[in-house]
Amino acid sequence: MSELTLLQGLVDSVHEKHKENQEGAVATYIPALAEADPDAFGIAITTIDNKTVTAGDVDSAFSIQSVSKPFVYGLALEEFGIEAVGRHVGSEPSGESFNSIELNPDTGLPFNPMINAGAISVVGMLYDALADKTGDRILRLFSELSGSDIRIDESIFESEMTTAARNRALAYLMQSTGFFNAPVEEKLASYVSQCSAMVTARELSIMAATLANIGTHPSSGNAVYSPLTVRQVLSMMFTCGMYDYAGRWALDVGLPAKSGVSGCLMAVVNRQIGIGIWSPRLDGYGNSVRAIAACRDLTEELGLHAFEFSNRGSSILSMYIK
Ligand code: GLN
Repeated sequence: MSELTLLQGLVDSVHEKHKENQEGAVATYIPALAEADPDAFGIAITTIDNKTVTAGDVDSAFSIQSVSKPFVYGLALEEFGIEAVGRHVGSEPSGESFNSIELNPDTGLPFNPMINAGAISVVGMLYDALADKTGDRILRLFSELSGSDIRIDESIFESEMTTAARNRALAYLMQSTGFFNAPVEEKLASYVSQCSAMVTARELSIMAATLANIGTHPSSGNAVYSPLTVRQVLSMMFTCGMYDYAGRWALDVGLPAKSGVSGCLMAVVNRQIGIGIWSPRLDGYGNSVRAIAACRDLTEELGLHAFEFSNRGSSILSMYIK
């Protein structure tokens, strides 16, 4: 039996185990998200040598929502460098919900790029450089990462724009503190637009596999991100990707990950695989109930936790100590 057949068996059994779980509720604060099929559930794993194993609804599209954040943050790091990006967004977990209206009192900046304030600030930097070409640049990035032609869903975009009071409040709060310049509405629209890009669980796993493969796309071989950018992005996902559930996630699962309110979850196993899971019912933190449960099981079965006892640590250090 090939290794992939074994992995397929595991993914099938994890999907089967959680299929009937109906806990949680589909997000409704963006009205268009309420139309999602609550029973949809797909799991996809893509290896860094570009093999994909799937179970369930892996070819149905959903809006990427907050899973866009690490990718756009990576783009900003590539364009402007770590230092310049650090003048617009911090790197500390906030311990607050993803749309909390607050900035770090010590710096006046958003706590990190994985929460809404930070992501709006980051896309604002891109907007300063690219103006009305920002949206196209981001879609080009998502298309390159997924290997598909990624588009935004206009009805989800419109739906979020008309209910974006909290994100609008955050954007104007940031403008008032000085590091976030006008045009605020255009920058807000760029953020909402990146969240409205449509992807599938299969595509998400391919996008994640580029991060697992130290920035090089598993099929095209294109270097999308530098290794340093990937290290920065994965560190941020590890500490802040699951919002105010990030600490517990680090304990139980121990993988860099990012969730989105459409019910998607992306996780990365360094140098091995990208994981994309979609199931629209959310828990109180805004994370997908079944995606979390499935990812926890995969981690358990495959020994994926960053601090798993079988993890040997630095190969450079092993040249010095045996
Ligand atoms: N577009 C959503 C928002 O800004 C993204 C939030 C999320 O996925 N957690 O509220």
